[in-house]
Amino acid sequence: MTVNRWENIKRYLHFADNNNQVPGGDKLFKVRPLLNFLNDSFNSIPMDEMLCVDEQMVPFKGKSQLKQYIPMKPKRWGYKFFILADQHGIVYNFDVYTGSIQPHPGSPDIGASGNIVLQLASAIPTNISHNWFCIMDLQVLLEKKKIHCVGTVRQNRLAGCTFMDDGAMKAKGRGTHQEKMTTHDGVNLWAIKWFDNRPVALLSTFVAANPTTEVQRWDKKEMVRVPRPNIVAVYNKSMGGVDLLDSLIALYRNKIRSKKWYHRIVFHMLDLTLVEAWLLYRRDCQSQIPENARLPLLDFKIQVACCLCMENKVSNKRKGRPSQVVLGKKKRGRHSFVPPDPVRRDNTDHWPLQANEKGRCQMPGCKGIVMSKCSKCAVFLCFTRERNCFFDFDKG
Ligand SMILES: [Zn+2]
Ligand SMILES: [Zn+2]
Repeated sequence: MTVNRWENIKRYLHFADNNNQVPGGDKLFKVRPLLNFLNDSFNSIPMDEMLCVDEQMVPFKGKSQLKQYIPMKPKRWGYKFFILADQHGIVYNFDVYTGSIQPHPGSPDIGASGNIVLQLASAIPTNISHNWFCIMDLQVLLEKKKIHCVGTVRQNRLAGCTFMDDGAMKAKGRGTHQEKMTTHDGVNLWAIKWFDNRPVALLSTFVAANPTTEVQRWDKKEMVRVPRPNIVAVYNKSMGGVDLLDSLIALYRNKIRSKKWYHRIVFHMLDLTLVEAWLLYRRDCQSQIPENARLPLLDFKIQVACCLCMENKVSNKRKGRPSQVVLGKKKRGRHSFVPPDPVRRDNTDHWPLQANEKGRCQMPGCKGIVMSKCSKCAVFLCFTRERNCFFDFDKG
């Protein structure tokens, strides 16, 4: 593609009609239809039992009102997303932070972090889930919807609940914990403070300290066993999905730059959706396809790109030799990139050509050395009196 064509595509890339914009209205107006469309698709995926809500930073340093600064994150500047995901990183619901979070329709206002959890949790069919994140009012509200919760909590948010102070716990040794139980508005709540190398407080409506298990920790150059309450184990198991998703996106993040603030969001959604599709592909593979036959993320992305570029498309270069499409690294022993099945079998524009040099037939199991090629797939295939690999390869 030429630079000019690409710049034109970027210039005319729009998702909403600017004439309908209301001054002072939705800050994400320009991408709202795209976000809604993706959220509807994510909502329709069958959910796992263990879910978590977490923040995601989309690195961005350009000019935008929506840009946030979070000093604790590796990428400190960017757009802040809230994501409802499971432990494998599959996203079911998300929202972009726009500076204020209004209470979810039909729910009371319980502060920004509580409101966003209630809003994302509205996608969860009731009666199934265990979750995350925390304040007391939020957990009570979710428990009433039959959604069980566990989450870390700041000690000063637990009104009327006093734990041993940090010094006293440290003196008792690593792994000390203290448990408190209360009933609030008819809902049982357990609060646990655990001292590992620093104190952490957790609150839950379905899990408490027992049974405790042991975890291994390094302490002054030797391995020690530290007792860990069950609540911490459950919390750790369900958290981490969004971190996993982040690391997968960061592996092959597209680096498209643009002056328009909303382009970063659009291109991020492209990355996120592809990783999501790959995770679902892996989930579907689980019982049928052996581990070593599953596509790695990079190959999956290349195949998607290749199908979008080539499937059902007619080459517009009618004159001269067709250009070879070579995506990804050439593997040793393979002469060219073999397009994915949907492209090979699209019945569009596959013509036999005579090449100027000889090459090995790419039909699996065929060892023929021939001069005939497919014009679209750009691979050598037998087309002789004895064999017609062309027919088998492209007609599948
Ligand atoms: Zn072909
Ligand atoms: Zn052959």
